[in-house]
Amino acid sequence: MQNAALRPIQILKPAVAERIAAGEVIERPSSVVKELIENSLDAGATEISVSLEDGGKSLIEVTDNGHGMGPEDLSLCVLRHATSKLNVLDDLERIHTLGFRGEALPSVAAVSQLSIISRRAGSDAAFELTLGDLSERNEDSARPERVTFGHFLHSMHGTRIQARGLFAQVPARLKFLKSQGAEVSQVREWMERLALTHPQTGFQLFSEGRAILTLRPEDEASRTRTLLGDKNDTPIITSTWSDEAHTPSLRLRAHWLQGLSVPNARKLVQVINGRAVRDRVVQQALLSPFRQALLPGQFPAFALYLEIDPSQLDVNVHPTKTEVRFLESGRVFRAIESLVETMIARHGAPAYASTLWRASENPSPIPSFRPANVATPSPVWNFSAPPVIPSDSETPRVVSQNPFQHARFNGIAFNTYLLFEHESELIVIDQHAADERIRYEALKKKFTSRTLSSQALLLPEAVRFAPEQRQRLLERLAWIQKLGFEAEIFGEDSLLFRAIPAEWGTDSLRTRLKNLIDRLLATEVTEKNESALAVDESLFESLASEACHSAIRAGDALEPIEARAILGRLFECTHPWNCPHGRPTVVRLARGKLEEWFQRRV
Ligand code: ADP
Ligand code: MG
Repeated sequence: MQNAALRPIQILKPAVAERIAAGEVIERPSSVVKELIENSLDAGATEISVSLEDGGKSLIEVTDNGHGMGPEDLSLCVLRHATSKLNVLDDLERIHTLGFRGEALPSVAAVSQLSIISRRAGSDAAFELTLGDLSERNEDSARPERVTFGHFLHSMHGTRIQARGLFAQVPARLKFLKSQGAEVSQVREWMERLALTHPQTGFQLFSEGRAILTLRPEDEASRTRTLLGDKNDTPIITSTWSDEAHTPSLRLRAHWLQGLSVPNARKLVQVINGRAVRDRVVQQALLSPFRQALLPGQFPAFALYLEIDPSQLDVNVHPTKTEVRFLESGRVFRAIESLVETMIARHGAPAYASTLWRASENPSPIPSFRPANVATPSPVWNFSAPPVIPSDSETPRVVSQNPFQHARFNGIAFNTYLLFEHESELIVIDQHAADERIRYEALKKKFTSRTLSSQALLLPEAVRFAPEQRQRLLERLAWIQKLGFEAEIFGEDSLLFRAIPAEWGTDSLRTRLKNLIDRLLATEVTEKNESALAVDESLFESLASEACHSAIRAGDALEPIEARAILGRLFECTHPWNCPHGRPTVVRLARGKLEEWFQRRV
């Protein structure tokens, strides 16, 4: 056999080279949709519709009402490096469009049967580009193409692109495609990301002729709510910041669905100069202030829009342009982190609130909010050196203090909301959420200091379990004993509780004990929690969250003295602003808002 290294060098045949290059841009149907939608957005479309057949394998069709293409552009647009968006190298410094590499259409054409029909704004005729059959093409010959009159009925002007039989000629790629449902949901996910970058554009997605996503034009905050919120009236907090005084300028707009937290980063959106990206620096800056406000493993629903002078940004890092690089990432990091810290401090803040608190009354000079003893990252990072993000230990936070120490108790609404008046605000506390937080932290404190105490039950409580779970339960019994339960297996199918942790209380005890057994059985033995002595933190959290159910309920009538005690104890907590499940405990209503409502002030 001939050794490959001994073969003479050859220039790849165009058709081979094209398919290799296409592989960088086009991985699956969603990559085709992404590229085509970006072109539609660059063409100024305000309506974009996508249709898929067989998850995009048989057909991907994207129709827009953008400015369209004339016959000359049509015959050029499928050539590699053909673009109307970049002329000279210097233009790379001022990119305002999503595309600029002139690679998408030729890539799609290399791996599918492409046809384009387009009508240019101001023209009364539409033209159609058809490319010769992919399968008939041999490796040497260029593919015949034809531009003819076509019919574009969608609107006065615009473009419709169809890609049929994706990867039909590239079996190596075809076999990596997933089920129809999985490909459709990838497309949907990409469309939603792009829709967040252009809220004023309407989007529709059809699969097998059925509409599965319809987004009407709306503003940025409501598009964020539509796509990230769990219901239409999810409250949203918007904050903006800019430092126009400095050149080059940097502008931030943030929309935060404050009451929502989710166990993954899927509701974190970054839009940089109109481009949906996942940048590590931005992500870190965004999440670091939340580390104090949310439970570990919980993420906020948050959309950040960043606009920066294009000369400060390298968007040409990756063929699919989903990564960027900042010239001054330190500056960007600090600006984002400060904005997010301020938002949290004002609307539901983590434990370091006391300094931020006062500072947050004055909305403009964000950078000064940082406590003075914080190590400042070096001012300029260049392209070659990725930042070293400041770690937690470098950013000491001020310990919590009750910001409402001198608040006046004003009563309880609906036996659920504790009302306090504080300076120029009405403070509303959800008694159930607050008590959950208080109990949770009390339990955790005792657990970590190994001072959990038990409360003996007057009558032991027997809870049944399925007999086949007996062994599994036995293996896990030591864990709950560690948490202050005294329990033993009784007969074939019962667990007899003689004592429970003092913090548990006895409300609906049986149900909670039953839930506890379910959780226990559902927890896998891992290296970390194998030994009964090492009940690891996540196991503790899972078991302790059961304790929350003993909390004061909405609807329980409290005495004023209990209400005041809740306020005081809440702000002794490390994370007073959210219950352990991430819901807010406190809502602040500004007096000014009331005055607006009553038209005392316009
Ligand atoms: P790029 O977007 O990087 O310029 P593409 O291969 O994606 O490269 O597109 C090539 C060119 O085709 C674009 O620069 C644009 O002029 C034109 N074009 C592509 N799609 C559309 C569209 N939907 N409407 C108008 N023009 C388009
Ligand atoms: Mg493009």
